[in-house]
Amino acid sequence: MSRPESSRILPMSNHPPVLTSPDPPELDMDALDTLWLQVTGTLCNIACLHCFITCGPKNHQHEMMTVEQVCNTLIEAQQQGVREYYFTGGEPFLHPNIRALILMTLAQGPLSILTNGILIDDEMAAWLGDVFRDAPYSLDLRVSLDGYTAEDNDPIRGNGTFERIIAGIKRLASHGVNPVITVTEVRPGMGQAHERATFINFVRSLGIDKPRLKFLVPFLIGREERRTRGYTENELLHEGDLQPGEAQKLQCSSCRIVTDDGVYPCPLLINTPGAKMGTSLRDGLQPIKLAWQPCYTCHVYGVTCRT
Ligand code: SF4
Ligand code: SF4
Repeated sequence: MSRPESSRILPMSNHPPVLTSPDPPELDMDALDTLWLQVTGTLCNIACLHCFITCGPKNHQHEMMTVEQVCNTLIEAQQQGVREYYFTGGEPFLHPNIRALILMTLAQGPLSILTNGILIDDEMAAWLGDVFRDAPYSLDLRVSLDGYTAEDNDPIRGNGTFERIIAGIKRLASHGVNPVITVTEVRPGMGQAHERATFINFVRSLGIDKPRLKFLVPFLIGREERRTRGYTENELLHEGDLQPGEAQKLQCSSCRIVTDDGVYPCPLLINTPGAKMGTSLRDGLQPIKLAWQPCYTCHVYGVTCRT
């Protein structure tokens, strides 16, 4: 990978300086297949130390989307031929109208919901189980957990979260929903084969016959930047860095995310100054420049946020 001659620093009040590549690769939109909706903005019931958009109970950088905003987005998405949907936040189950949003979305395509699982009580799990079986399109849940012991998980996600997340997973399993367990590799070695095998056995012990796990590398922005480190000036992409065929594998070649205030290339960039593409999905169809620091991680690790 070539070294940058110089990297631009975008100044922004209320935000640390952001390094951007002076000569980034450009990526066309193949087709808008996948649409993310930041339904609860940056509001979350917990505040994980690796959260790349620094979500928490008091973070109003992005507010919750209203039912009307989601409805209008879905109409526009249908016009653009979107094939699948993701709900994220923050914590989607904080949304007071989450059931209506789920049903509206499932009326027009498959839906995955990213959650920490803590707010899924027995009644919600039973409702999700019914929807899981009866909806016209598939419903999938992704529950985040950063270790198979409280000693591993709780220093990252907060005291007591391990037990509360496990309880949510068990409730989902008891109502016939098999969530994908999403594990961020917050410690060296977590993604190695024996660690994955131990994790799979642990999930099996929760009453899930066919465990599904997704391991993700951390992105060095948001709170993770304080927990470990931020990106260096050399960790940016430049013209010519993408391998043949790589562009099509990056999720931003076929996805966008909509928040309360507009459209961004992907879920990683909603707090990144300068990354906003406009206010309508149509604005999001234009090519993007992979000028941002997290693009480096996508390139090096082949990361995709899709399930
Ligand atoms: S990582 Fe997920 S659960 Fe944790 S604070 Fe961020 S949005 Fe909330
Ligand atoms: S961070 Fe990753 S998914 Fe987002 S625009 Fe950059 S390469 Fe694409």
